[in-house]
Amino acid sequence: MKPRASRVASALIEWHARHGRHDLPWQHDRTPYRVWVSEIMLQQTQVATVLPYYQRFMHRFPNVRALADAPIDDVLHLWTGLGYYARARNLHRAAVRIRDEFGGEFPRTFEDVASLPGIGRSTAGAILALSRGERFPILDGNVKRVLSRVFGVQGDPADRETTETLWQLSDACTPEKHVDVYTQAIMDIGATVCTRRKPLCTYCPLSEGCFARSHGKQHEIPAPRRAKTRRSRHVFMLVAMREDDCVLLERRPESGIWGGLWCLPEFETESAARAFARQMLRAPQIDPQHLDRIEHAFTHFDLVMTPLLTRCAGAAGVMDEPRSLWYNPREPARIGLPAPIKTLLAELTDPSLFDERVVASPSGG
Ligand code: SF4
Repeated sequence: MKPRASRVASALIEWHARHGRHDLPWQHDRTPYRVWVSEIMLQQTQVATVLPYYQRFMHRFPNVRALADAPIDDVLHLWTGLGYYARARNLHRAAVRIRDEFGGEFPRTFEDVASLPGIGRSTAGAILALSRGERFPILDGNVKRVLSRVFGVQGDPADRETTETLWQLSDACTPEKHVDVYTQAIMDIGATVCTRRKPLCTYCPLSEGCFARSHGKQHEIPAPRRAKTRRSRHVFMLVAMREDDCVLLERRPESGIWGGLWCLPEFETESAARAFARQMLRAPQIDPQHLDRIEHAFTHFDLVMTPLLTRCAGAAGVMDEPRSLWYNPREPARIGLPAPIKTLLAELTDPSLFDERVVASPSGG
């Protein structure tokens, strides 16, 4: 027997009073702004990881105006290490729109909220439900999993038809009253009880009548994602270091990985890196030294970086000023850096470590 949609809400609300999470920082002083930032940070990132980032972000940008007025570099700086940097750029863009088009007040209507950069239907619903108690269904990854299992929706959640079925179920389950508690509860149950790998059915308030549980299909529902072949990409990063130890950084384009962050100049081949050094740097070292390789995993591929250290006297040609800077690793500037590049730059300040890291350039390299 499948549970009635109305029973789902009452069971979850009752469960949340006793077992839900009540002490997360965004659960206090639930303004739309605070909920919005938390919802964006929590996309693809676990609560434990988000907590320190959220606290620092709120300290630096306590309201939407503070965020809108800040340089994007300040925002990306606080996002360093959290990944998926488009989220930070969209947050900043949306804050500017709220300041300029909505007089600094978070928009009131669902349509206006959902029109902001980086806010889809589910996030808009979550913000309005959690901060204002307005009745809107949500359908993030956790909610999709819970509803699929409870109601036995066996299609691929990425398919449009399945998604539409799940939206209808989510709408049917969303209660008229206590929608804020219900919304938090269904997100919490997905994150802590009905987890992807080991659902804790024994402790679940929805176990009675749950399709997946009664059919022993917890591991088949939702349908596993089609596996993508993992690839790896190899690039060379030029560490151009001046006599004062400042290192040349370039701002990456907005699209693509690490969009908008500051990074070492990147090249497909070592010869391209050498050609750049010859043309753009003054008195570059002829044979760059190979530092230890760095591997960084993205969702669908691994990036393997070989840093090439070249000492130089500075820039020779005309550098594109807004998109390049000389970064002093000893006095780090407040800019957004990809986490592995930040680590590498910090290591360059340690002479003993630095000497150990330098290895001979391969012959003919
Ligand atoms: S009974 Fe198990 S599978 Fe069903 S919703 Fe609860 S935790 Fe998920």
